[in-house]
Amino acid sequence: MLQSEKNSIPYPFMLFDSLNEGVYIVDTAWHFIYVNKRAAEIQDKPPEELLGKNIWELYPEAVETVSYSQAHHAVEKNIPVSYEIYYPLLETWFESRLYPCAEGLIILLQDISERKRQEETLQQSQARARRLIDANIIGVVISDMDHIFEANDAFLEIVGYTREDLAAKRINWIAMTPPELLPLDMNAIQELKEQGTFTPFEKAYYRKDGRLVPILIGGAVLEKDPLQWVCFILDISEQKTLEQALRESEERMRIALKGASITVYQQDRELRYTWIYNMQAHTVEDIIGKTDADLIEAEEAVYVTAIKRRVLETGQSYQEVVKATGIAGLRYFDLSIEPLHNGNGEVIGVTGTSRDVTEQVELEKRKDDFISIASHELRTPITVLRGYTQLLARQLDQQGIQEPVSMLKTMDAQISRLVRLVDELLDASKIQAGRLDYEEVPVDLDALVHETVEMLQASSPTHTLYVSGATLTVIPGDKDLLGQVFTNLITNAVKYSPQANSVDITLSSTKEATLVSIRDYGVGIASAHQKHIFDRFYRVYDSNNKSFKGLGLGLYIAHDIVKRHGGNLTVESAEGKGSSFTISLPLEK
Ligand code: ADP
Repeated sequence: MLQSEKNSIPYPFMLFDSLNEGVYIVDTAWHFIYVNKRAAEIQDKPPEELLGKNIWELYPEAVETVSYSQAHHAVEKNIPVSYEIYYPLLETWFESRLYPCAEGLIILLQDISERKRQEETLQQSQARARRLIDANIIGVVISDMDHIFEANDAFLEIVGYTREDLAAKRINWIAMTPPELLPLDMNAIQELKEQGTFTPFEKAYYRKDGRLVPILIGGAVLEKDPLQWVCFILDISEQKTLEQALRESEERMRIALKGASITVYQQDRELRYTWIYNMQAHTVEDIIGKTDADLIEAEEAVYVTAIKRRVLETGQSYQEVVKATGIAGLRYFDLSIEPLHNGNGEVIGVTGTSRDVTEQVELEKRKDDFISIASHELRTPITVLRGYTQLLARQLDQQGIQEPVSMLKTMDAQISRLVRLVDELLDASKIQAGRLDYEEVPVDLDALVHETVEMLQASSPTHTLYVSGATLTVIPGDKDLLGQVFTNLITNAVKYSPQANSVDITLSSTKEATLVSIRDYGVGIASAHQKHIFDRFYRVYDSNNKSFKGLGLGLYIAHDIVKRHGGNLTVESAEGKGSSFTISLPLEK
């Protein structure tokens, strides 16, 4: 009981004490005549310290505040007033309600801090939403079943309407939607009603200018009754154009690949197939998730896997024809493998094409077999022919019959040329089959070069062959084969420099290798041809060119022989400027 004894007044004070609201009563001279329990708590003073005291003397700081003016206003006008006030000391918001009464004034104070906090949070989140809408990153509209009645500039831009159109309610989403797409909207509205939001979906709007613009739309309910919702709209024209371009380019690729029977695929870092296109023998499901080991013979898989691992490790592309025995039997594939990068440039797998070249390989093999058989079969009769020609020439010479002798000599020279051609063919097919005989002995290179030059000089009256320098080395190798290399290169140097009259042969050596260079001053080789001249049957001049005859095998054989010695055969040349071929052979293998 906090009632002042002498100013006892007829109120149900017990009831006031149970209120969670501060109740104060002041008399006409502003003295507290009653405070309830909560009021004393708010003031943080025992009631005795309040009762009988003048409110404005006790709280002089309040004189300046709205409380003072409102209290006086209520009393003077004899009307109830209410206002909200913040007590900084208590960090609390109160709603204050003042009721004039016979004794003076009843003051009710209610803590409304929680409500204030909620209001503030709401205001902040509304401000954030507003900022998002006004940022115009995305179209935002508020609409009901008929009209769009609020929209940001981004939306107006997407659909080409103005703010005036919006104000005049001329933006009607139903009219803007192509009729065949309306069912999508109806589903969305159904979803809105049931779940409060709808799953974003793609549709299109007719712009004010009649053009159709593809959009992505998502939204949520704002008001349930009548139904109102907010929608987020994204213009996806660019994306659609890209998708279309992508589809077209995929379609072109599909058509191109179909005709060419090329399979395209991707594999991850573990070399499991993750994507495959234009399969020949399998279905896609057979392949995805598998590795080569699951699909082809073990030994072949090991080989192919090693190639692909190398691409993964080095990041360099690679191409090779490989053998693969799978469900379609033994086939040959021309594999072209590239590293597959992610956005950060890391290698995340390989991508490749595989072209079935079985038929070409088989044809090539038949051709090789034919060359091998033909050169074998030709070699014996030609050798016999040459033997008899030489024998005949000698006998006639001894008998002093001169005229046929010179004819037989011409015949012998042509037969020797035939022997050389057949030998080239034989050697090339032996190399191809990996059956070229190789007999290693110590070879005195300087002596061998001088010997070869001497022999060739005799049959090359148009050119002088100059030898300079010395290697001063003896290397392990096959003397006949190395002799063949020098013969070949010097013969070429003479053959391809018809206007010149010399060939320079230079011998030298470094710590690791001996070098033999053969330099001519002839037609030279254009750089586009240089990387091919060591290929089998490659010729810069076709068979119609009468000046330079040959099979295109000499350099192929020479290159292979030098490689077999662990060395290198390289060329430096420019068209019309002559060529320089250099053989480098390691001192030790
Ligand atoms: P070929 O029997 O045609 O001479 P090679 O294998 O010896 O065959 O040479 C291949 C091709 O390289 C030749 O057709 C020729 O075009 C070119 N070539 C070789 N040596 C020379 C050279 N010294 N100068 C210019 N071109 C050359």
